[in-house]
Amino acid sequence: MTSPTIVIKAGREKPIIQQHPWIFSGAIDSIQGDPQGGDIVTVTDKKGRFLARGYWNAKSQIQVRILTWQDEPIDEAWWRKMIKRAIEGRAIQSGASKRGAPNAYRLINAESDFIPGLIVDRYDQWLVLQALTLHIDQQKNTISKLLNELLDVKGIFERSDVDVRGKEGLKDSVGNLFGEEPPKYIEIIEFGKKLLVDVRNGHKTGYYLDQVHNHWLVNNLLTNKHFWVRPEKLASTNVLNLFSYTGSFGLQAVHEAYITNVDSSNEALELAEEIIKLNNSDWLERSEFIQADVFELLHDYADEKKQFDIVVLDPPKFAHNAGQVEKAARGYKDINLNAFKCVKPGGYLMTFSCSGAISADLFKKIVFGALADSGRQAQILKHLGPGDDHPVALTFPEGAYLKGLLLKVY
Ligand code: SAH
Repeated sequence: MTSPTIVIKAGREKPIIQQHPWIFSGAIDSIQGDPQGGDIVTVTDKKGRFLARGYWNAKSQIQVRILTWQDEPIDEAWWRKMIKRAIEGRAIQSGASKRGAPNAYRLINAESDFIPGLIVDRYDQWLVLQALTLHIDQQKNTISKLLNELLDVKGIFERSDVDVRGKEGLKDSVGNLFGEEPPKYIEIIEFGKKLLVDVRNGHKTGYYLDQVHNHWLVNNLLTNKHFWVRPEKLASTNVLNLFSYTGSFGLQAVHEAYITNVDSSNEALELAEEIIKLNNSDWLERSEFIQADVFELLHDYADEKKQFDIVVLDPPKFAHNAGQVEKAARGYKDINLNAFKCVKPGGYLMTFSCSGAISADLFKKIVFGALADSGRQAQILKHLGPGDDHPVALTFPEGAYLKGLLLKVY
């Protein structure tokens, strides 16, 4: 059976040849055959030369997402090969049983693992699958079967409740896909500390796995003797963890410092408190959980001249598309300006943006603008991004949504 063919306009082949995985309607010259939503299609140039193979959805602006640039069938063997490759690409996978190795990480990172539209995260013995597109939605049972075959997990839970599905003509889909239902909270270990993840109701697939390596950095700041904190000063060190969610940036520091966690979500803060209790109830005395709007609270703190040794600023996505960049930039500038004011001289600011529409370069410029208005001085110690369980395909710059800066502030 030959698959329907999508013919690309002359002069529009270049991004496809350069392995960008998306084809927009404007690049399409004609369609041979009658592809239905989710069908596999072959992509050729005007002369009929093979370019790629992918899946079709006329409802989406991205009409084709490319699965392969080779003339090969997209069958179960292809799926097995690609899923296996993603699993084996995670070095931590082989160390999963070793003491201290993380038991929660991203296993399949969609376009960046060359499987557009599919996210799979591991939380201990459970996988959480997110199907972002129609074809992936159609394939989710095959994918679940293969994942179980390759990984031998207790269960696979689906969290396909993301806005982008609407653009594919899909509704939310949440529930058990395979095996045992996950418990209310799955316990995971992050650098020796216990965490509870609610995969049914938590943000994303339950947790911000992309920030795990940066949580650890706060710990490094406190304990690394090369840094400024001398052991005798540790007892009074304080950390302001803004947009804390379930408190992970603070959790990695709480044995060494006083933590103020701030989030607008009461459920997230309640779970943050549970997590501290689970690790060491003595740490509750060093932990504060404030339900507040960070924009307002930071204004107040700056007015009151409240200062902290370390300020972490990890807001949600402010820009969902290019049209929102300007407004988002004003938001980032506002919180970064007040965050600068709230850092003790000689302290640190760890600041992030997870807006894909804001480039690392633009983000740096915004933070620069905030610094200039604050009258402080700052040095970049590190450029931050997600851990290497969240690879970014070199041909897919859109995958590099999370960027951050670790700054020393005077
Ligand atoms: N730092 C967290 C992830 C933060 S995600 C981690 O590493 O796990 C962003 C968080 O900001 C969410 O928990 C959301 O509830 C919260 N949030 C969104 N808008 C807010 C606002 N205006 N003020 C305070 N918190 C907000």
